[in-house]
Amino acid sequence: MSTALIWFRRDLRLADNPALLAALARCDRIIPLYIDMPDAGADGAASRWWLHHSLAALDAALRRRGSALLLRRGPALEVLRECIGAGAVTHLFWNRVHEPEAIARDSGIKQALRADGINVESSNATLLNEPWQVLKADGMPYRVFTPYWNAAQKRGFDLALTTAPGTLPPLPPHLHGDTLAALQLLPRVRWDEGLSTHWQPGENGARARLDDFIDTALAAYASDRDRPDHAGTSCLSPHLHFGEISPRRLLAAVEQHTAAHRDAGLLQNAESWRRQVIWREFAHQLLHHFPHTATQPLDARFERFPWRRDYQEDLIAWQFGDTGIPIVDAGMRELWHTGWMHNRVRMIAASFLTKNLLIPWQEGAAWFNDTLVDADLANNTMGWQWVAGCGADAAPYFRIFNPVTQGEKFDPRGDYVRRWVPELSSVADSHVHQPWNAPQAPAHYPPPRVDLKASREQALAAYAGIRS
Ligand SMILES: Cc1cc2nc3c(=O)[nH]c(=O)nc-3n(C[C@H](O)[C@H](O)[C@H](O)COP(=O)(O)OP(=O)(O)OC[C@H]3O[C@@H](n4cnc5c(N)ncnc54)[C@H](O)[C@@H]3O)c2cc1C
Repeated sequence: MSTALIWFRRDLRLADNPALLAALARCDRIIPLYIDMPDAGADGAASRWWLHHSLAALDAALRRRGSALLLRRGPALEVLRECIGAGAVTHLFWNRVHEPEAIARDSGIKQALRADGINVESSNATLLNEPWQVLKADGMPYRVFTPYWNAAQKRGFDLALTTAPGTLPPLPPHLHGDTLAALQLLPRVRWDEGLSTHWQPGENGARARLDDFIDTALAAYASDRDRPDHAGTSCLSPHLHFGEISPRRLLAAVEQHTAAHRDAGLLQNAESWRRQVIWREFAHQLLHHFPHTATQPLDARFERFPWRRDYQEDLIAWQFGDTGIPIVDAGMRELWHTGWMHNRVRMIAASFLTKNLLIPWQEGAAWFNDTLVDADLANNTMGWQWVAGCGADAAPYFRIFNPVTQGEKFDPRGDYVRRWVPELSSVADSHVHQPWNAPQAPAHYPPPRVDLKASREQALAAYAGIRS
């Protein structure tokens, strides 16, 4: 009798899961396992909240099919060896995580367990193409998105989906796991009500989001994706991060929908969304090939950038949405309340932090990592370095977002800022993005922490200093 351990990590789903399929094809019994690893890089509080609910959903899905999720805490290799001993395990399967620390850990584990005589196999469940599969003609990685996108399209995407198994063999007896509560993923001080009302973690929640997005928002995605006052994007990012849905399913669903409707406008919008999904792939291949960028700028000139040192007060004001710049504060409060922020507003808030406040991008990335439910090392690193001007395909440094004109363009009636900054509820549309110029400044809302024009000039001067 052969028994497989399936080590779930960022693939918390049963459908379209290659490791699960391989285990079922090769072995008679399976043990689905999740390890909470205190030695792994720290997940933020919002991510841990999501993980708690996603593990609960995965366990429920496994139980409906006759199995269950074994939860364990501890260093990965130690836990795996214990489970291998207790369950007479012959095979170990997992889906790859494409982050530098995980790659180092996993290759050590693979080597050690193979030496113990275990069959270890890993698969790709996270990306459409793995980081080493889309390279330039000279074998080097892409640093600019558009050629990467063209090359990825030329290579094509395998969109053959597999369904979740209908039944599963029961867990072998005598295996003991931890309870979900013992993992202590939920916050001790319960600040998470906002998250519960906005999200349904798990595979079913992911599928529902995808279906809803395709039915209601895909057809206007290209124009609405930049509007934080509209529900114009899919909000699938946390589901993708935890692997509750595969990017393959996203593209397959869009292909099916566009084939059924045959509409040129729809095709254009679908193309625009596919492009965003490929930005995620681009971010993962960047982190793979340039692992130092999780903490250091890709553009080495920025190592000399004169970031401010005495910024603690301004950083706290930014974190809690108290800068006096409406669209920045709205975004930071949306983040605090829901664990998510609209992409356009992420760019504006990040630009304000790094350029107007001259605070290092790593501070912003760390705050996002702690508070975003979709916190993702590859996407977060690329996003911050792109805005700060020091990453791949970065926005030119001198293109500094003006949060007033951005607000007026993408939230023209101020619905978004009023929703998150109620202090502005009685300010007229004409001044809602610059309340300091309103005939009567709103009570209880602070003046801007910096002068936008002067701080812009200061940022440009700092950049000129490192350009040579
Ligand atoms: C400073 C900054 C930090 C960011 N940090 C993260 C992060 O930690 N985690 C994260 O998932 N995204 C991050 N992003 C990218 C982007 O903001 C989110 O992926 C997007 O807002 C998710 O919303 P959605 O699912 O509705 O996206 P949609 O517009 O529906 O796009 C579909 C999917 O494509 C991917 N995608 C879309 N835009 C981007 C992008 N610019 N870069 C990479 N992938 C993209 C996401 O996986 C997304 O779910 C960051 C962007 C910036 C500017």
